[in-house]
Amino acid sequence: MPSFDTVIVGSGINSLVCAALLAKRGQRVCVLERSDVLGGCVRTEELIEAGFKHDTLATLYPLFITAPHFPALQMPLRAAGAEFVNVENPTGVLLPDGRSAVLTRDRECNATEFERLASQDGHAFRCAMEEIARHRELTFTLLGDDLWKWSTLRKVLRYAWRAGNSRWAPIAVPASNPAGRGSAECSHPTCLGH
Ligand SMILES: Cc1cc2nc3c(=O)[nH]c(=O)nc-3n(C[C@H](O)[C@H](O)[C@H](O)COP(=O)(O)OP(=O)(O)OC[C@H]3O[C@@H](n4cnc5c(N)ncnc54)[C@H](O)[C@@H]3O)c2cc1C
Repeated sequence: MPSFDTVIVGSGINSLVCAALLAKRGQRVCVLERSDVLGGCVRTEELIEAGFKHDTLATLYPLFITAPHFPALQMPLRAAGAEFVNVENPTGVLLPDGRSAVLTRDRECNATEFERLASQDGHAFRCAMEEIARHRELTFTLLGDDLWKWSTLRKVLRYAWRAGNSRWAPIAVPASNPAGRGSAECSHPTCLGH
């Protein structure tokens, strides 16, 4: 009967990162998975036609490759054949009525594409992107750093100090009322959910 230092249930990306980091520290780790493939929501399949592979669920991993643990995993992942690449057209959308949109890495091109599909969606998209950009420091600290470290708390407090009370309002509004997202700084009817 094999023995392990740590048993992890589920093989999603969080489990696999955890298992890899523990194994690198010398632990014997067992990952249990109920599905027939590992990876959870991170998977690539030939869904439509043989030879054409799709990322079925998650597609973009900016938070993974900018996370503090990534340097420790980068070399082993590369040795195993994993390569993170940027492409000009990272994703597209196919609507039930047959219309489609191909998205690029250019914000303005994407806004034009959304506007083509639905009047005023381009403007709503620009507003949403501007709001994310305004709060990028806080957003990426909360998404990428270890929440339970003093260094994270210090960054959040520094953001609050620099931004002043008025800058917290746009964050508080979407958090308490998702339908009102963006309403604090964008008066366009689409953003106001009208
Ligand atoms: C459609 C979609 C698109 C997404 N796009 C992105 C993206 O582009 N970029 C991004 O960063 N994130 C994206 N995400 C989010 C990202 O996929 C998840 O945050 C991430 O996969 C969560 O990983 P996880 O390890 O927590 O769990 P999961 O990926 O959910 O994996 C959990 C695993 O545990 C297994 N499991 C559960 N219970 C048991 C059990 N009792 N016994 C055995 N096994 C069990 C499941 O079968 C599964 O394999 C997307 C998610 C979805 C659904």
